[in-house]
Amino acid sequence: MFKGTNASAGIGIGKAVIVEETELVIERRAVTDVEAEVERFKGALEKTISDTEKLAQDLAENVGEKEAEIMQGHMMLLMDPMLTGEIENTVKNDSICSEYAIEQVCNMYADVFAGMDSEMMQQRATDMRDIKTRMQRVLLGAETVDIASLPEGTILVAKDLTPSMTAGINPKNIIGIVTELGGKTSHSAILARAMEIPAVVAVTGFMKNVKNGDSVVVDGNAGEVYVNPDEATANAYAEKRAAYLKEKEELQKYVGKPSITQDGVQVEIVANIGKPEDVDKVIEYDGEGVGLFRTEFLFMDRSAMPTEDEQFEAYKAVAEKLAGKPVIIRTLDIGGDKEIPYMGLTKDENPFLGYRAIRLCLDRKDDIYRPQLRALLRASAYGNIRIMIPMVTCIDEIREAKALIEETKAELDRKDIPYNKDIQVGIMVETAAASLMADVFAKEVDFFSIGTNDLTQYTMSCDRGNERISYLYSTFNPAVLRSIQRIIRCANEAGIMVGMCGEAASDPMMIPLLLAFGLNEFSMSASAILQSRKIICNSSKAELQAVAEKAMSFVTTKEVEAYMKEYMESLA
Ligand code: PEP
Ligand code: MG
Repeated sequence: MFKGTNASAGIGIGKAVIVEETELVIERRAVTDVEAEVERFKGALEKTISDTEKLAQDLAENVGEKEAEIMQGHMMLLMDPMLTGEIENTVKNDSICSEYAIEQVCNMYADVFAGMDSEMMQQRATDMRDIKTRMQRVLLGAETVDIASLPEGTILVAKDLTPSMTAGINPKNIIGIVTELGGKTSHSAILARAMEIPAVVAVTGFMKNVKNGDSVVVDGNAGEVYVNPDEATANAYAEKRAAYLKEKEELQKYVGKPSITQDGVQVEIVANIGKPEDVDKVIEYDGEGVGLFRTEFLFMDRSAMPTEDEQFEAYKAVAEKLAGKPVIIRTLDIGGDKEIPYMGLTKDENPFLGYRAIRLCLDRKDDIYRPQLRALLRASAYGNIRIMIPMVTCIDEIREAKALIEETKAELDRKDIPYNKDIQVGIMVETAAASLMADVFAKEVDFFSIGTNDLTQYTMSCDRGNERISYLYSTFNPAVLRSIQRIIRCANEAGIMVGMCGEAASDPMMIPLLLAFGLNEFSMSASAILQSRKIICNSSKAELQAVAEKAMSFVTTKEVEAYMKEYMESLA
């Protein structure tokens, strides 16, 4: 068995097809007829552009418009006259072959981008290297395997999948992906999840241990891969896959059903989104609204701040598409580790404890916060928008933010611009301080949403992304559970809505506890909605009280997890 990172859930069983890009040998070859060589380059450029267009189309058809945008980065570079002009000049001035000129010019730019301290520029460096190799492959007649025409039942095996390779994937034929490189947030992982193909990435040394045609099992839940498994393993996984597919189909019957327990307690299952386009999946999976719109995504991957009008259009689009269903929009949660080059932020020593979210927004009212609040209020005239403030630690912050919202309302009144005068304002409860003061906060705001991703890290004093201390990072830790229970109790007592938008909200072992505690709203990635609804519809809140009581009597994470696992298995 090979272990890697679980990048996309599900079980895939099929035959390995190894997609190995042959190493290109780029030699400095002198040319005498430089004009002919420039023509040769132009021909290759044209072919690369038309291939890229085709890939973008395939992506838009097989995955979605949003994913096709990845190819636009490539198009932008390929159509940049500065880049292509420089390649042509290098051919002419140095009398060298096109592939060598491309090598020199593209590497120079890629190195410059890679040296810049921003995620967007790192991505541009990857894009530059990707288009470089693709142009060279066309010139050398060494084009890559046509991934689009691989047979049904293929498990794609590669060192790494470049975005352009991933773009050619037809999800009907590719039923699993294994790569040696990459991480959970690499482009290929994101695309695999969007296409719902089980994937395991970062499987060190895998290519040496697999041949074309080998039987491969990809367990995208556990992050495990088996090559030519013995009969018992193969059978066990065939059963798991059949169960996975059956479950997926069965979940369809929960579309259109209310999220209501056996004893009549109704909750809401809503979705986390990052861009207006994500609403399509929310509708497909029957989300009852949006519980968290992470607006920082509107600010990323660009070179200047989105204007108030651009933001207004984005918020309005989501509100209109969801036609009256609640849409909780979180004000900007940026800073610290999430870098945005044009904002001129300096690096903090302790990013997660630093200049972030509401702290930054209250310090940059004029250029950041007021325009965002104006956009949100204006959009509230078009649907059921609620405003959510992230990373709140003290009462003063929420009072200041609310005062700013009132000021903005008055400004809109003066200009006769419509907005929802009763717009709800809530907070993310995700810091230890906010949890301890939840009784007081509950009197100041209209709703809570528990951000367990951060609440866990702040409660456990454990960086959420640090693998070496990940044993500490668990929402099942009794300290975190007590915090969650307390926040929910304070909200219930004050009569305000309390939701959860951290990953824990869709954890099947956590849902029974949250129901018992009295959570009203569960917000999660769209693809988890139906499974969560199934769990809720098959539970009885009254019966779960005893389960929660028992779970809360344990003093270690392991005990709680073991108990909840046993409980869930007893239901199966
Ligand atoms: C959280 O902290 O749980 C949360 C939902 O917000 P983010 O993951 O964006 O910090
Ligand atoms: Mg958070």
